[in-house]
Amino acid sequence: MEQKIKIAVQKSGRLYEDSIKLLKECGIGFSNGMNKLRTEAQNFPMEILFLRDDDIPQYVEDGVADIGIVGENILAETGKALNLVERLGFGKCRLSLAVPKSSAYEKLSDLNGMKIATSYSRVLQGYLKENKIQGEIHEISGSVEIAPSIGLADAVCDLVSSGSTLFANGLREVETVMSSEAVLVANRNLGSEQAAILDKLLFRMRAVRKARSNRYILLNAPDEKLETICNILPGMKSPTILPLAEKGWSSVHSVIDENDFWEITEKLKENGAEGILVVPIEKMII
Ligand code: ATP
Ligand code: ZN
Repeated sequence: MEQKIKIAVQKSGRLYEDSIKLLKECGIGFSNGMNKLRTEAQNFPMEILFLRDDDIPQYVEDGVADIGIVGENILAETGKALNLVERLGFGKCRLSLAVPKSSAYEKLSDLNGMKIATSYSRVLQGYLKENKIQGEIHEISGSVEIAPSIGLADAVCDLVSSGSTLFANGLREVETVMSSEAVLVANRNLGSEQAAILDKLLFRMRAVRKARSNRYILLNAPDEKLETICNILPGMKSPTILPLAEKGWSSVHSVIDENDFWEITEKLKENGAEGILVVPIEKMII
């Protein structure tokens, strides 16, 4: 029988959609109907298990799944012995300490003696210990942000992305305990066939992620400006230059980082580039 790799992804929640999207963009076809607990890919040796995020590290450690996609915060909290194979660039958030807006909190040592509500007691405990703070950790499984207003705690330690939930609950974010994003984790003793499939998957994930952060740029330039324009463009090797039908003009093609896009296009325009087109790249293999 053909060997497969079993991947655990979140069943529903904040990581679900981006995890599915990444697999699909890797060319892996599968159906993921609601309430399905497992599904097989049609064109890749993969079985997908849909689980609660908290359970994923345990399943991967036990080998029920070979690999998994989970938040770094969950990986740290469960403390399982797994390989962190790749950071995936989505599900970005931070585990932060927050106090009521009216609190006199100024510095970390003000946490001494405070009651802190959290669902991440292991990570918080490590942080307090590292900073030599004697706080009292109150473990609760959800709705941490309301703990101060109901008199359960003096501070909270919770996941934040924009900070709006904290703000809406009258809290002020004061310290970052850890930064997190979705990561690909793997069992430490993968079989050789699974390891080979993981390599293939990683190759595809990197091509997809690289493509997402790059753009293909095309522009026209008068020949006398070509040198300046080529110096502005970073490109993978060097830009492609093709003559236009109109004499004295060329078309220049290259690849730029999305983050540099505005800066580069402004410079290109200033230096005589015309008809600048920027298009998304679907896959990028370098
Ligand atoms: P499950 O039902 O699978 O246990 P959950 O409710 O525990 O889900 P979600 O809220 O879906 O978990 O969050 C999953 C992960 O998404 C978190 O562990 C974290 O890594 C990431 N994340 C990103 N942004 C945020 C945020 N603003 N708040 C909470 N988690 C976030
Ligand atoms: Zn969870």
